Amino acid sequence: MTEITPQPGIMNIALYQGGASHVAGVDNVVKLSSNENPLGASDAARDAVAQAAREMHLYPSTDHAALREAIGDVWNVDPERVICGAGSGEILKLLADAYAGPGDEVVFTEHGFSMYPIYAHACGATPVVVPERERVVDVDAILRACTDRTRVVYLANPANPTGTMIGMAEIARLADRMPKGALLALDGAYAEFVDGYDAGAALVESRENVVMTRTFSKIYGLGGLRVGWGYGPKPIIDVLNRIRGPFNLSRPALAGAIAAVRDTAYTEHCRSENARWRTWMADALAEMGVPSDVSCANFVLARFASQDEAEACDAYLQTQGLIVRRVAGYNLPQCLRITVGDERGCRRVVHAVRQFKNGSADGTGI
Ligand SMILES: *Cc1c(COP(=O)(O)O)cnc(C)c1O
Repeated sequence: MTEITPQPGIMNIALYQGGASHVAGVDNVVKLSSNENPLGASDAARDAVAQAAREMHLYPSTDHAALREAIGDVWNVDPERVICGAGSGEILKLLADAYAGPGDEVVFTEHGFSMYPIYAHACGATPVVVPERERVVDVDAILRACTDRTRVVYLANPANPTGTMIGMAEIARLADRMPKGALLALDGAYAEFVDGYDAGAALVESRENVVMTRTFSKIYGLGGLRVGWGYGPKPIIDVLNRIRGPFNLSRPALAGAIAAVRDTAYTEHCRSENARWRTWMADALAEMGVPSDVSCANFVLARFASQDEAEACDAYLQTQGLIVRRVAGYNLPQCLRITVGDERGCRRVVHAVRQFKNGSADGTGI
């Protein structure tokens, strides 16, 4: 027997399942399984990455000053309290690593993002799962689950995969009533899809126990580059900076993110296209008996009559080259999460679900 053993908790981790990106034997696939931007990154970001390729023999900046300044300009936050990571996932993980360990508790909700239990186990803490109310986060249930061992509460707003969100007053109430010594990690991965939403930036500025995270993987279309950021009280940002890798963001990643965040006209275009096709798709699905909650993000959580129907529909969509996300692992077995595509992607998926519902899903193609 080997004496080389991992730290407690690590063997409890089930590997994260990313969205599939191909179907065997099917060409012309539309991937609607990972909430990526169907329009891609802005031209300015592509150009900046290409330019940065000429300098890839040089180490990148360790303090990310230019990116933090760009984020500060665009989102009206203090660059001194911004930290950048290889995706917002890195920031979310650093929070658990820095503040939780064996014997501590990390709290999240039943349909919460599936990385949260991984961050909890990875640092040896105990995950605590809280029920939601009809796919909406229930602040009182979270407060009831908190104890003096609670160190981190993860909350995505808007949430993935439900697409629902709760009001800032509710979030403030949670932050104010959480036990001392517990930190609220507000995951704003989909914040940019909500017009006029600050994702909790003001809350961060007025509290000591709130950290907000944001990502370049969704509206900015840079999932492949791996860039995210966090905004928090100075003492917490200082702690996180001590344990992150000094060169955690590559030169192309930094350059691409700076150009992307400054291209606010493109971001606005993506936001309005998403809102338009999200409404169109949700309405069309509802008309054929596949309802969904009003989504605040770039996907729709389609509810079928049963797990069997959801799985059969998913199987049919795959034969049509349409990849959506099964969410049984999120305790939503009767649902499929469908990313809002471009016009063509949305029309194709609606057409295929209609064929499926009409019983004309014989697999012979559209
Ligand atoms: C996509 C997503 C993230 C972002 O992950 P990155 O590491 O920034 O790519 C974070 N939280 C939720 C809920 C997400 O859906």
